[in-house]
Amino acid sequence: MEFSNKAEDDASANADTLILACMDRRLNSEIDRIGGGTAVVVRNAGADVGLAKVAIERILEQGNIGNVLILPHLDCGAMGLVAGSLLDKKRVDDQVYSGLVRQFEGSFRSRNELESEVNPMMQRHRLEDIINGRDIGIEVRCLDPSRLNPGGTDCTHSLAIMNPSASAYEAIFKSAERSAGGMTLGMASTYVVQPFDAVSARIAVESLGIKNVAFIAANRREAEGFKADALFLGRQDYSSGASINIVDLTRRRIKE
Ligand SMILES: [Zn+2]
Repeated sequence: MEFSNKAEDDASANADTLILACMDRRLNSEIDRIGGGTAVVVRNAGADVGLAKVAIERILEQGNIGNVLILPHLDCGAMGLVAGSLLDKKRVDDQVYSGLVRQFEGSFRSRNELESEVNPMMQRHRLEDIINGRDIGIEVRCLDPSRLNPGGTDCTHSLAIMNPSASAYEAIFKSAERSAGGMTLGMASTYVVQPFDAVSARIAVESLGIKNVAFIAANRREAEGFKADALFLGRQDYSSGASINIVDLTRRRIKE
């Protein structure tokens, strides 16, 4: 499908499925395949309901969503961070601790148990609280990236930050590359956070070491809205050396 402003604006209005997935780059092709270009997608560190609570509530309030598919996965960087903090007592930033790690205190004994059982169950329960009795189905699938075909070739990893979009990354990334000459957003190399949250962005830039960050705006209004987030991200000590750009799919790149 062709990605356009209209498609983005209507993404959550027309969709009957909401996909909540981890930001991991290896899931992009699978999300495109499962969502078929029509599901609306929200992504962050670990497919975390808490980090995306406001966005999820807003999408569900529009009333058309009948199913939510939660896609956490094995070999997850975010869960590695959680396990490192709670099992190995590695230091993590306070904001990352309260936003992501804390909910798992005392709930698992191994990283594998966390990834394959505890996180999927935790997110299902958090979503049930938000759905609060409405007639919306929940399915949780813990993906195994080693069994997926992420497609494309491996190159420098990037981070794309967007608002919730249609499940059409192939089209979105190509469109972004056209709007921002010289930028490469590979299907297999681009992590995706949507909408922006400071915890997921921090994990991507600080823990995963991503240096190429692109806020992808479907239009001028979204591009304006991203300015404060881009400025915030650029001011953090962990993002020194990272290149942060806003790509307006309807215009040229705005350098921050
Ligand atoms: Zn992950």
